[in-house]
Amino acid sequence: MYCAVKWGELFKIKSKDDMDQEILGALRRLFPGVDIPKPLESIYVYWEEGYRHIQRAGTHLSAFKVVDWAKRPFPGRDLFMVGEAYHPLRGWIEGALLSAHNALREGWNK
Ligand SMILES: Cc1cc2nc3c(=O)[nH]c(=O)nc-3n(C[C@H](O)[C@H](O)[C@H](O)COP(=O)(O)OP(=O)(O)OC[C@H]3O[C@@H](n4cnc5c(N)ncnc54)[C@H](O)[C@@H]3O)c2cc1C
Repeated sequence: MYCAVKWGELFKIKSKDDMDQEILGALRRLFPGVDIPKPLESIYVYWEEGYRHIQRAGTHLSAFKVVDWAKRPFPGRDLFMVGEAYHPLRGWIEGALLSAHNALREGWNK
């Protein structure tokens, strides 16, 4: 979340070229030795309000119960639900990744 806010703040004061450089520099630090080209085109938009999946008001299910259910919605079947909607960190990529991690642990004991 703080990462998104940081990028949102940068976007207010930086030009598009500066933003391209920031992103390129971050990608090159993240993937050292990989030849990452400059983007052909880029568009930056910051959504102040954000977004997220939410549960219906009055539901009897907590976010944590949804996580448990999604790991294997049909007991005995190798079917797993993944995505940010199925993790308490809803609205963030991290939630999607952690939900995929839950499925891997559930199905493959990793
Ligand atoms: C405007 C906006 C800004 C965001 N900013 C940030 C941010 O700064 N930082 C951050 O961490 N997160 C941010 N997010 C949230 C992040 O994008 C999501 O949490 C993440 O993409 C969720 O990943 P996911 O795999 O669960 O779902 P998704 O990335 O939504 O993937 C679901 C995929 O399933 C496909 N699909 C849906 N229905 C069907 C169907 N019936 N058949 C076949 N395919 C289907 C969709 O087309 C999509 O490709 C932002 C989201 C939005 C909308």
